[in-house]
Parts: sequence; structure tokens; C-alpha cells
Amino acid sequence: MYLGAIDMGGSKTVVAVLDDKFEILATKRFEGHEKDWHIHFDRTVELLHACTAELGMTFDSLSALGVVPPGMVRNERYLLLAPATGWRNLDMLDEYSKRTGFEIIATDCDVNASAIAEADITGERDFLWYNISNGIGAAIIMNGENMPGANGVSGELGHVKVEYEHPRPCPCGQVGCCEAHASGAAIGRRVQQLAHDDPSYAELFKRKNYPVNAYGASLLARENDVKSLDVFREAGKYIGRSIAIGLNVLNPPRVFVGGGVSQSLDLLLPEIRRQIELGTVEFARNVPIERTNLGYYAALKGAAAIALRKYKKIHMND
Ligand SMILES: [Zn+2]
Repeated sequence: MYLGAIDMGGSKTVVAVLDDKFEILATKRFEGHEKDWHIHFDRTVELLHACTAELGMTFDSLSALGVVPPGMVRNERYLLLAPATGWRNLDMLDEYSKRTGFEIIATDCDVNASAIAEADITGERDFLWYNISNGIGAAIIMNGENMPGANGVSGELGHVKVEYEHPRPCPCGQVGCCEAHASGAAIGRRVQQLAHDDPSYAELFKRKNYPVNAYGASLLARENDVKSLDVFREAGKYIGRSIAIGLNVLNPPRVFVGGGVSQSLDLLLPEIRRQIELGTVEFARNVPIERTNLGYYAALKGAAAIALRKYKKIHMND
């Protein structure tokens, strides 16, 4: 069985054909966003046609399509708002049905979709999926199902308060949120501030030819640069406080961490562990925290996973 998958990330869009074991068979991509969502969606469908053509299969041989738009999704159908593009209130199922003619189309936000893929690939049925990229979000999987909440926006552990003394403003309108202090973007801003205040730190990035952002600082931290290690210790403190709240509330048996910054999980983990020790009840505390098994294409596999689930659900009822 073959599945179409579309992942509209923050900075790029990836389109792919996968099999039902979530192997990626063909991918196409483009950078950035079209201001006009009509044009953007049309482009993704053109690329999906190109993927099937490359594999020598017809477009119709795809059994289902999964679409992950760049924002909050309500009721596994409506894109409420894509902050980077300003797209609002789009019926994703309707739009993609018109463009592809497929009967089975699934949609959800990247974090929920990735968590579903983690469940279906690892067989784990209960966990917290914690995503650290440009923003911070989480999904709760219980009994193998995503727990969406009343409006489909549960798991907002990026917007729990982790800093009261010196809170920074968050894109969500509040202050002191975990996302404002420890997302990839927040770590990047912190690194740039430090480089601005201390020319010798800026010089270090220049000499090594590392980007002055979270990734560059992670490379320096691995070379035991004290300032960069401190940056990750501080981010780990905030992330740890946020995860601790998730553990106290949900008592999940395991936590998977995804998103670009999860590549630096080893640098964050000692302080995350310390905060969990400080911030949880004893019996919620001893939980494995590990990197996702999904790798770089987590959201793309997520798109395929929600499509496959929908296909199975519909065909079980035949
Ligand atoms: Zn917030």
C-alpha cells in the first residue's frame, strides 16, 4: 500500500510517497511559503504527482493522503491559524479533496501526527511526545490514541509558565512561557545576545565558522565551551520544568523528544533530570526520556501515519 504525505514545516514543505511501513520512497520539496495558500496547496499536489511519476505509479494508486499544515488544527480538519503565513480557518480536508480527488485524507498538526507515527512505529501505547523546534509543543498518547482535548489543542507544554522573575514575551501573548525561554528560536536569541555582549564569544563562532544560533552553540558545547554549555543548562532548566508539569499531571510511562533541538538532548538532559527531581511527586519521576525514533522526517511520517489510520478505520467498517 502506498501513502501520500505532505509536511508544511516552518521553513520548507516536503511532499512524499511512503509505503505502509513508513519507508520514504520518493520526496520533493520547496523552501518558504507562498503567501496565497491556493498556490501553496496546488504546488504540493503537483509535487505529489511528480513523486508518483518518478516511482512509475499512477496518482490513483495512493490509498490515502496525510497533510500536516504549519499551525494549529481543530477536529483533525480545520487549520485555525498558521502563524508564519497568516493562513486562517481553512478546511484542509475539503481543499485537498478538491485538488486530489482522494476519498481518504487526514490532517493534524505536526506534533500530534508525529506522536501517532511514534506509536505506530514503536508499538508504544502510552507516552508524552515533546517537541522542541522553533516552538515547543507536546502530544499525549494514551491507549495508542492522541488525547486531543475539547478544541484539539491539548498538550501545550510550550506555554506553561517556567520563569516568573524575568519572564520574556511569548508569541502566544503570555509571558514566561517555556517556548519563550527554551525553544530553538529562544536559544538562538540567547546565543546572539551573548555573542553581542562578549566579542570573544562571537570570535569563537567566527573562527570555527559555526552559525551563531542554537545549532552552532551545540557544536561549541560539545567542545566543552563553558558559555555554550551554560546556554543548554539554562534551556534544560526551563524544559525540565515544563516536562515536570506534564509528568505530574499525566504520569506517562515514557517521554519521547522530537524536533530539531532534540539533537542536543544529551546536552539538555542533566538539567532536565534535575528539574524533574525538584518538580515532581516521587512516583511520577522515574521515566525514560529519549529521542524520537522517527529521525529527521518525523512530521512527514506523521502525515503518512494519520492517513494510514484513517484508511484502516474506514476499511474496517466496510
Ligand atoms: Zn506562550
